[in-house]
Amino acid sequence: MNNFEQLGLNESLLLAIKDLGFENPSEVQQKAIPLLLENDIDIVALAQTGTGKTAAFGFPIIQKIDANNRGTQALILSPTRELCLQITNEIKNYSKYVKGLNTVAVYGGASIHDQARDVKRGAQIIVATPGRMQDMINRGLVNIENINYCVLDEADEMLNMGFYEDIRSILSHTPENKFTWLFSATMPQEVARIAKDFMKSPTEITVGHKNQGNTSVTHEFYIANARDRYAALKRLADANPDIFSVIFCRTKRDTQQVAEKLVEDGYNAAALHGDLSQAQRDGVMKSFRGRQIQMLVATDVAARGIDVDDVTHVINYQLPDEVETYTHRSGRTGRAGKTGTSMIIITKSELRKINQIERIMKNKFIEKPIPSGAEICE
Ligand code: ADP
Ligand code: MG
Repeated sequence: MNNFEQLGLNESLLLAIKDLGFENPSEVQQKAIPLLLENDIDIVALAQTGTGKTAAFGFPIIQKIDANNRGTQALILSPTRELCLQITNEIKNYSKYVKGLNTVAVYGGASIHDQARDVKRGAQIIVATPGRMQDMINRGLVNIENINYCVLDEADEMLNMGFYEDIRSILSHTPENKFTWLFSATMPQEVARIAKDFMKSPTEITVGHKNQGNTSVTHEFYIANARDRYAALKRLADANPDIFSVIFCRTKRDTQQVAEKLVEDGYNAAALHGDLSQAQRDGVMKSFRGRQIQMLVATDVAARGIDVDDVTHVINYQLPDEVETYTHRSGRTGRAGKTGTSMIIITKSELRKINQIERIMKNKFIEKPIPSGAEICE
C-alpha cells in the first residue's frame, strides 16, 4: 500500500493530496488510514515527530464526516495554540474539495465570541486546545454531545502540559459510543493511563521504536563552560551561515535574553514564549515561516509540535530534564524525509545526560569541538 489510491481515499481527498504534492503515504499513514476508513475503532498510534500524523487522522476524519450535516461530528484536541492553528490549516487544505465542510479552531488568546460564532454557523470539525475548549463548554457555547470521533493529538505533550483533568472533563461531555484516536510521538505512563481510562480496547499502531526519534537527524554535542554558552551559540551560528533553526532554552527569561543578545549582535533572531501576546506570537511565527527570521529562540511549551519546513538545525542551548522533551525538540528538524542536525551545548558536568539520552533513543551522539574563529573565517 505505497500509494494513496490504494488506501481507499475518495476522489476529493486524492485531488487535494495531488495539490499538496504528497507522492506517497508515510508509514503511519499507510497503517492508520485503511484501518480507520474500514473500521470504527479506538486506536493508539505512536510515530515519531515529522512522520505525517496529522494526515493519518485528518484524511479518515474528513472522509467519514457527513458534510451535509452541519452538526459537530469530530473534535481534535491539540496541546498549543500554534499547533491548533497548524492542524486547522492542514485540515482545511485536505478538505478543500469537500463542499460544505467547515473546520473551526478553538484556542486561547483570541476572541471566544468570534470562535463561538464560527462554531454556531456549523463546524463539523473543531480543532481545540483543552483549556479553551473547557471554557467554551462551561459557557454553553459549543455542543459536542453528538460527535462520532475524538482525536487526542500529540497526547504526550498535552499530558506533559498538565491537561489530564481538562481532557477528562471534555470527554465527559462526549457520547459514550464515539471513537477515540490517540496520536503521540512517545508512550510515557501518562499516555498509557489515558488509553486505559478513556478508550475501549484500542488497536495499537507503532512506527519505528518508541521514543526512538527521527533517524534522519544527526545529534552533535559541543562542550562549553557554563559562562561561554552564548559565545558557543554564536560560533555555531557563524559556522553555519545558512542556518534556519529553532534554539531551545529552559526558561522564558533565558529565551528572551538569548534572543535579545542575538538581535543586538546582528543576527536575524526572535523569541517565542508564553509571555508574548497571541498577536506577537503569530507575528513571530509568520516571520519565521517566511524566513525573515533565521533563528527562533523558544521555550519547549511555545515550540511544541511546530511544523516549519526545512529547519536545518535545532540547537539545545540547555538540555531539558526529560528525554521525551529532547525527542520532541530534535523532531523540529529532519522533517518530511529531509535531514537535519540537533546540536547540544553542554557543560562537562552535564555529560552523563548525553549518555542517558543516547541509551533511550538508541542513537550515538557525536562530540564535536566548538568551531574556532579561524574555521569560521575560512
Ligand atoms: P507529525 O504530526 O507526525 O509530527 P506532521 O503531520 O506535522 O507530522 O507532518 C510533517 C510534515 O510532513 C508536514 O509538513 C506535512 O505536510 C508533511 N507530510 C505529511 N505527509 C506527507 C506525505 N505523505 N508526503 C510528503 N509530505 C508529507
Ligand atoms: Mg503532529
